[in-house]
Amino acid sequence: MIAMNFRGPFRVRADRNKPDPVIEHPEDAIVRVTRSCICGSDLHLYHGLVPDTRVGTTFGHEFTGEVVEVGSSIKNLKVGDHVLVPFNIACGVCPFCKQELYGNCHESNPEATAVGGIFGYSHTAGGFDGGQAEYVRVPFADVGPMVIPPDLDLDDAVLLTDVVPTGYQAAEMGGIKEGDTVVVFGAGPVGIMAAKCAWLFGAGRVIIIDQLEYRLEFAQRFAQCEAYNFRSLSDPVLFLKKTTDYFGADVCIDAVGCEAAGSTLQTITGRKTLLQAGSATALHWAINSVKKGGIVSIVGVYGPTGNLIPIGNVVNKGITIRANQASVKRLLPKLIEHIRAGRLNPKEIITHRVPLEEVSDAYHIFSRKLDNCIKTILIPPS
Ligand code: NAD
Ligand code: ZN
Repeated sequence: MIAMNFRGPFRVRADRNKPDPVIEHPEDAIVRVTRSCICGSDLHLYHGLVPDTRVGTTFGHEFTGEVVEVGSSIKNLKVGDHVLVPFNIACGVCPFCKQELYGNCHESNPEATAVGGIFGYSHTAGGFDGGQAEYVRVPFADVGPMVIPPDLDLDDAVLLTDVVPTGYQAAEMGGIKEGDTVVVFGAGPVGIMAAKCAWLFGAGRVIIIDQLEYRLEFAQRFAQCEAYNFRSLSDPVLFLKKTTDYFGADVCIDAVGCEAAGSTLQTITGRKTLLQAGSATALHWAINSVKKGGIVSIVGVYGPTGNLIPIGNVVNKGITIRANQASVKRLLPKLIEHIRAGRLNPKEIITHRVPLEEVSDAYHIFSRKLDNCIKTILIPPS
């Protein structure tokens, strides 16, 4: 089959001869992919920032597809079902899954100390191949995949595998109260979605910060929020203090993570420094611009282990930090309700549709934020 193939930092290609996946366990299913996305999380792998990302891995944790084969114990799926597949691989029965912490499943990645299993991520996330391919093996297929309701648009469905639940959970973890001022760092797909979702929790004011004008303009329209370019602010933290009567924001959301592509290119010189530092500028700003006793909600991914945060300020300000991988399965029913009611319109963020064979160009464009790219969908040959 054709599949995205990681060759090393900044080098990916379409491999035309990857063996088709097979059922390895009675609880597996094989899915023929109909759509997959490139995510900001893939960029951490692409940039070589996540330990144990092995050459030959197929990335892709956001995908929909048709079930073409099921293992002998599968009860909830049948061949021909069109499913959306959460990015978390979850067993459904471990103590964490029982609490609906599907991003922290123990069984899918028992050797890890932190994250559960994730499709198409590094071996620190279990070493599973992902969905930027024609076919993908889905472990624990009775747990994660959801048959796509007939009234749900396929573009909305694929965005429900990660970016919508992640944005929603970012707002949820912020504990937003009626009238709160919420600042979102990062106007990528995740940040834009977090800004949109902040209103659903009763925010009174939503501000988004980025460095890319086209994304800020889009965020302003899509999420009806205020948008500021940190490159035109001499001191983003001071600016945010001033605009909140020097109290600080009630809630700050980090939707950047370590080293987004923009900062790689524009603010950090040398890849080596970046690898060692795992820069966390947005998180520093979040901690320093939230009010005393406020909440910092982190969904940005930090691949390297040595990330530094201003922990003294966390203590002195009495800040609560909440962070996690999104628990996609837990959130799907309520997010589908929001879409049906017209309160969320995820597919508007899709700017690029690229044949899977052109995956290398697609990564280049998304990583460098060329051509006003927000969200890219890869389409396998039919
Ligand atoms: P993206 O790369 O498209 O967007 C990141 C944005 O952050 C860019 O627009 C960039 O210009 C901006 N940025 C860079 N430095 C900044 C700074 N200092 N302040 C403000 N903005 C800054 O990525 P995305 O797809 O939107 O994902 C965002 C983050 O969310 C990534 O770290 C990704 O790994 C993470 N993520 C987490 C989960 C989860 O479950 N926790 C799920 C999906 C994605
Ligand atoms: Zn993702």
